[in-house]
Amino acid sequence: MNFAGKVVLITGASSGIGAATAIKFAKYGACLALNGRNVENLKKVAAQCGEAGSSPALVVGDVSKEADTARIWSETLDKYGKLDVLVNNAGIIETGSIENTSLEQYDRVMATNLRSIYQLTMLATPELVKSKGNIVNVSSVNGIRSFPGVLAYNISKMGVDQLTRCVALELAAKGVRANCVNPGVTVTNLHTRGGMDAETYKKFLEHSKTTHALGRPGTVDEVANAITFLASDLASFTTGLSLAVDGGRHAMCPR
Ligand code: NDP
Repeated sequence: MNFAGKVVLITGASSGIGAATAIKFAKYGACLALNGRNVENLKKVAAQCGEAGSSPALVVGDVSKEADTARIWSETLDKYGKLDVLVNNAGIIETGSIENTSLEQYDRVMATNLRSIYQLTMLATPELVKSKGNIVNVSSVNGIRSFPGVLAYNISKMGVDQLTRCVALELAAKGVRANCVNPGVTVTNLHTRGGMDAETYKKFLEHSKTTHALGRPGTVDEVANAITFLASDLASFTTGLSLAVDGGRHAMCPR
């Protein structure tokens, strides 16, 4: 895989899947714009990209805020003057069912996980059309299967899959591809940041041995492999795909 001369913008690159994806793109020679809110963490990821010879631009901001996302985009374009790959990865999880998820929670999850992708994709599309570039969205197994107790998250991720497919069809004639990855449980900070305490998270990872056919949770590197593949020319005839990176979880049924 070779991304030499290609400009890649990754949201949520300061941690977890986004950070691993940034480092992988750096190894493949990409010019990077890395977004996140935590500047210290972003600098650490940028330093790791630096070891691979890349010097990423940091486009700091909160993607759930419209003005921030507009600025994240304008700073990226000011820096590089084009875009080849947009990776919409930033996301949060919040627990709650229809009985106890507040509208504030719903709005926060939807603004971060879905509305921000809509906005950034809208802004980036003219440049992606020029470059015949592509989009990789980070959805979840929750986008294609239904789980109780994380209602707003499920709805947001299902929206990401539908957005991906529709945009893929809308931009196909212009040579722009759009795909998403649907990870299963992946070891990152997502769940603890979403309120899970350390002991419960440990049990959750243990339980993942039975909820994933391959008998374990996934790693950030495994998801980053799928993202870089979809973004690369190796996937030149693939668009509108929801690619499960979940150890077979999407195919499982209780019995
Ligand atoms: P992490 O919590 O480790 O990383 C989340 C990233 O998103 C951080 O870089 C964080 O930046 C960024 N982020 C969150 N909210 C915002 C915001 N409002 N504005 C800008 N950046 C933001 O979790 P993951 O790496 O696991 O999550 C990445 C994606 O993967 C998410 O979309 C998640 O839903 C998805 N996913 C994760 C799974 C898992 O099991 N881990 C499974 C399926 C999907 P900062 O810290 O700087 O605020």
